[in-house]
Parts: sequence; C-alpha cells; structure tokens
Amino acid sequence: MMPSTMQDRPLTITEIFKYGRKVYADSQVVTFMGDDSRRATFAEVADRVEKLAAALTRLGLQADDRVGTFCWNNQEHLEAYFAIPCMGAVLHTLNLRLFPEQLSYIINHAADRFIIVDDSLVPLLARVVKDLTTVEKFIVVGNGDATALGDVLRYEDLLEAEQTGFPWPELDERQAAAMCYTSGTTGNPKGVVYSHRSNYLHSFGACSASTFGFNENDKILPIVPMFHANAWGLPYATWMSGADFLMPNRFLQAEPLCKFIADERPTFSGAVPTIWNDILRYAEDNPVDFSSLRMIICGGSAVPRSLMEKFEQRHNVRIIQAWGMTETSPLAAIAYPPTGCPPEEEMEWRVKTGRIKMGVELRLMDGDRELPWDGESVGEIEVRGVWITGAYYGDDAPEKFHEGWLKTGDVGTVNRQGYIQITDRSKDVIKSGGEWISTVELENTIMGHPEVIEAAVIGVPDDKWDERPLACVVIKQGSHTSAEQLRDYLSDKVAKWWIPERWSFINEVPKTSVGKFDKKVLRARREHGELEIVEAK
Ligand code: ADP
Repeated sequence: MMPSTMQDRPLTITEIFKYGRKVYADSQVVTFMGDDSRRATFAEVADRVEKLAAALTRLGLQADDRVGTFCWNNQEHLEAYFAIPCMGAVLHTLNLRLFPEQLSYIINHAADRFIIVDDSLVPLLARVVKDLTTVEKFIVVGNGDATALGDVLRYEDLLEAEQTGFPWPELDERQAAAMCYTSGTTGNPKGVVYSHRSNYLHSFGACSASTFGFNENDKILPIVPMFHANAWGLPYATWMSGADFLMPNRFLQAEPLCKFIADERPTFSGAVPTIWNDILRYAEDNPVDFSSLRMIICGGSAVPRSLMEKFEQRHNVRIIQAWGMTETSPLAAIAYPPTGCPPEEEMEWRVKTGRIKMGVELRLMDGDRELPWDGESVGEIEVRGVWITGAYYGDDAPEKFHEGWLKTGDVGTVNRQGYIQITDRSKDVIKSGGEWISTVELENTIMGHPEVIEAAVIGVPDDKWDERPLACVVIKQGSHTSAEQLRDYLSDKVAKWWIPERWSFINEVPKTSVGKFDKKVLRARREHGELEIVEAK
C-alpha cells in the first residue's frame, strides 16, 4: 500500500470543542427559565467546561469512568456533553422518564460513578437511590433541596473552586465518548457506546447541506431531550457550526415552548411528532409566532402528513422528516424531495421516511435474501456504517446483528434513489388473512380526519382473518365522530380490507419515555379487557 502524505489526527470531540470556543467565541447558549432566559457565550461555556473537567478530575474521575447526567436540556447539560468525553471519561445520558427499575438497571449496568442531577429532578432520582450499586457521588445543579440523595456536591461550588485551562489529554478516536440506552420496549434497555470518531463524523453529517445545513446564522432549538439519542446530534453540530443553541430546560409544554420560540426566534427545531401535534393544537386558540423557523426536523416515529400540511398551511413552517435510532447515533435518513420535483408533488416525497444518508449503508432483507431497491419489495432494513453500533454494551443480543449489519427491526421498502418507506416496526406488524396491513399508514390516514387528534392501531386476534386491526383514537373534545364516520372517511383512502371494524375511543394514546405511541401498553389494556371496543361494519 502506498502511504498517504496526510497527517493522522484523531477525530475527537475535543477538536470540536476547541474549534467552537475559539472561532465562535461569541455565539450564544441560551437556557429558558420560564419567563425569561439566561445566556452565556461559547467562550463562557467553554471556561466552565474546563472547570468542570478539573473538578471531576479532582474528585478522582479517571479515563473510561462513566458519569450519568439526569438533566433537562440546559447549559449545564451541554457543559457535561463536552467536559466528560473530552477528559477521556464517558458521558451517560439518563432518560428521565424510564420506570424506576429500568433507571436503576441502566445506571448499575453502565457502572456510573457519578451522577450530575438537576435539582428539580432530585425526587425522581431519589426513588432509585437505594438500588444503585456503583454511584459514589451526586453532583446537584442548582440550590434546591437534595437531602433525599444524602450527602451531595453542588455543581456551582465545584466549578467555583477551579481554574480554566484544563490540559485536555490526547485521545484515541476509537475510545468511548458517550453512551445511551434504548428505552427498552421489550426486555431490558440496551446500551449503545458512541466513540469520539462516530460523534465527530455524525456531527459533520448533521451539518451538511443535505441534512440540516447549519451555519452561524442559525439558532437551534432542541426540544428532543439530550438523553434521547444525543438530541439527534444537535449539541455538537451547533458548536461545530457556531449556531446559537436555545434550550427549553424543563418548560416542555406547548405554551412555554411557544413563548420561548416567539422570544428567542429559533431558525431550526427538532422534536417527535407528539410535541408538534401539541404545539399545533395550542396554536389553534392562541397567538403564536413561528416566523423565525426555516425548518423543523421531526422523527422518532412516522410523521403524519396532516401534521406537515397543517404546519405549512397555517404557519408557513416546513417540517422535514428524518429516521434514525439510538443505535444509529441517530441520523440515518432524511426526507427532502429530489431535485426537480414540482412543488405540488413535494409532499409525496416528504411523507416518505427518508433518503438514506451518506455514511450509512442500507440493505433490505427477507431473512438471508437481499431484496431489490424497487420501492415495492418489503423487507427488514439492515444498516451499517461509521456511526452505527456494531454491538450492545455488555449484552450479546445476537438477534439484532446479521453478518456485521444492524437489524433495525423496521420493515418497509426502499426505492431506486434510496428513499425508505417504513410500514411498521416488526413488533407492531399486523397480518390479516396472510397479507400485511401497515399500521403506520393506517394511523396517519386516520389522523388526517379533522376531528381526530391521535390514532394508534394494534393487531387483535380474529377467528376468520387470524388478525385484524383495532384503531384506538382520540377525538377532539365535544366531537361526536363515530366509528362509522371514520370508516367512511377511510373508504377512498386505503384498501377496503384494511379498514378496521373494531374501534376504541380513548382519552389519550399512552406514550413511551421518549414520547412515542406505546402500543405495548395498548395491547396489554386490550388483553385485560380495559379498552371499550365498538364494532362497526
Ligand atoms: P425507541 O426504540 O425507544 O423507540 P429510538 O428513538 O431509538 O427509541 O427508536 C428508533 C425507532 O423509531 C426506529 O427503529 C423506528 O422504528 C422509529 N422511527 C424513528 N424515526 C422514524 C420515522 N421517521 N418514521 C417511522 N419510524 C421512525
């Protein structure tokens, strides 16, 4: 092999950190406080990052040690995002909404030594404290009562005692930088360990013009939590591009979010569909100002066409759909229409799940047989690439890997140009009379009905067809829409045999810890006879 003449510098988060602090020293990090915001420049945040690294070192934190964060999206969380990986330790973002057993499981499994916890979240963490086997210190952000955690350290006291100018170590780009557990829809959550290299490359991918196209003029509002798959890569992408970073803290309801958007004027925001749905409903009865937003990124579950259309028609805001998983860092595909597409056809492309990104290889499989990218063949999507996990931390899970590829559990088609259309997660599929019904498509079509707020479809046993869909719908307050009317509505929109006979009108679709429809809970409710089901023909 002929050696290149290129320098061999490691791809590390430290490089991103040093670059942003120097070149974009005046860019801003803004944290919402409910009424107003607190702000710091990148330079000020960087000084605090160095002090945090110094403090953690003084407390005895060593290379590869894990530090959990139990925090909202705020400035201190961003500081941890840099200090911990750049000092050679491992940032472990903890999902605030896990069940207590899952939370203690992941903290113990990752062997977190310290946990940085927001004072408002102390009571939540205190519920599991007696079950934690590895945690030595709690570091509390804020001055609130923390007696429930015993002896604690205070974040600001620690920083106060330190100087800036931390001597960042030279790191191996392949070493662990951060970890995140999936929310464990079946069995225990599984840990994914990101490297410096994977984060670095993923951040470039996120910034590229074919993904989010960030630059210094942007103001990025991550509503997606920083514990949900690295807030979709936004924290490092911000720092790399010099965009301001606007964080909503614990104010995640539609009303304060809309105030924050009007006050701080983000150009870009990201969240799961349920959040945008709430915001849309709030905006029906309240004045809002979304004029600053050049685009919204939405994913985590299929984005209903009706949601995209309403945002565009009523607020002139463009929602772009993306697809990914904790296991894929997460960005794997994004649904921009292809070049030359006439405006009236754009929506047909934007409702697709996304076009596979450079850096991610994809194949469509039917067991061991590879299927063509013809937009018709339906199979399971497998991916591999530099920011795709090749294993789970301390958990074999051979069923999730196949010849070096990650089995995503997502079923769908891929067309010639690399556009994916997911029809289901494999655990949600419905097979009726030997044929698949796409719950994703059925739900999104039902949600297009003007009186419907949410719809989740699950499979139920059926004597004649083996399995049939049951539609669980939330309709607007005061609406009298019936199952017959909804069936009528579907009659010219989906295949006749897809139209559910069984309907359940519920108050709310249960959500997972990251805000997706929790069909597992719906299935259990049905099995226990807790859903009132009407039959319509
Ligand atoms: P969890 O597994 O806890 O839901 P993840 O966010 O890692 O957490 O979930 C990844 C899964 O979310 C994907 O495998 C896919 O099923 C679903 N998903 C993400 N984005 C989309 C999308 N745009 N359309 C359909 N499904 C999506």
